[in-house]
Amino acid sequence: MKKGPFLDRNWMGQNPEYKSSDVVMLGMPFDGTVSYRTGSRFAPELIRLASCGLETYSPYFDKDLEDVNFHDIGDLSFPLGNTYKSLELIKNNVEQIYTDKKRVFGVGGEHLVTLPTIQAISKFYKDFTVVHFDAHTDLRKEYLGEEMSHAAVMYHIGELIGFKNIKQIGIRSGTKEEFDLMKKYKTRLDFPEQLGQLKNKNVFVSVDLDVLDPSVMSGTGTPEAGGLTFNELMDWFKEIKGLNIIGADVVELAPHYDASGVSTAVAAKVIRELLMCL
Ligand code: MN
Ligand code: MN
Repeated sequence: MKKGPFLDRNWMGQNPEYKSSDVVMLGMPFDGTVSYRTGSRFAPELIRLASCGLETYSPYFDKDLEDVNFHDIGDLSFPLGNTYKSLELIKNNVEQIYTDKKRVFGVGGEHLVTLPTIQAISKFYKDFTVVHFDAHTDLRKEYLGEEMSHAAVMYHIGELIGFKNIKQIGIRSGTKEEFDLMKKYKTRLDFPEQLGQLKNKNVFVSVDLDVLDPSVMSGTGTPEAGGLTFNELMDWFKEIKGLNIIGADVVELAPHYDASGVSTAVAAKVIRELLMCL
């Protein structure tokens, strides 16, 4: 029997076919190295569900998701407890996406998932910038003796692509050493118009949702007061839209810390708007 209609449990507005898609949405339910509250492994599936509560039309960009050619490929299945194998799995899958001449849109999971994503992309692009939205610097060399930590993700990326190729937005937490590193390489951006300096560059956009204020995004592992409002984030996205985006990710929603479900709805909307920028 096949009657229905049945509910569509994929991301709203997706292209159901991989082959003809331009952007591949890859769920990465991994939270093995978080420094405080775990739970972001539940984000991709719950954001997918929450996406159905939104409209496909974005009034911010006067554009519809139907005009963004993305395919929701589903969530990776990780060998639980094995960080290195999990990262390898992400790297291999992202490599395949770029081999197929598509771009990735990652949905975390914790922020460390961005490292294997960038490792894979760096095989295809020699010179690019990572635009990093976050409350935290993520520039530690290690955390509690472990190099592979979400608190160290931008440090490893900086070593790979050069610290001068990282631009950071919304940062308000880190060690003095990390802030010194930011100053040394002038990674910090304070005004959306400053993104204009990236006009002729290839850009990967990584959004750690804790860049938003906890009053907007309480459902995250390490909430940090003093963050952006949703509309302030949109002001940045309006400048992001003019850039040459080679990939993106949205990470660190830990949905169960916000029993209202609002954080999950916010995450879905951030993803919808960032999809409009691709
Ligand atoms: Mn982060
Ligand atoms: Mn963070």
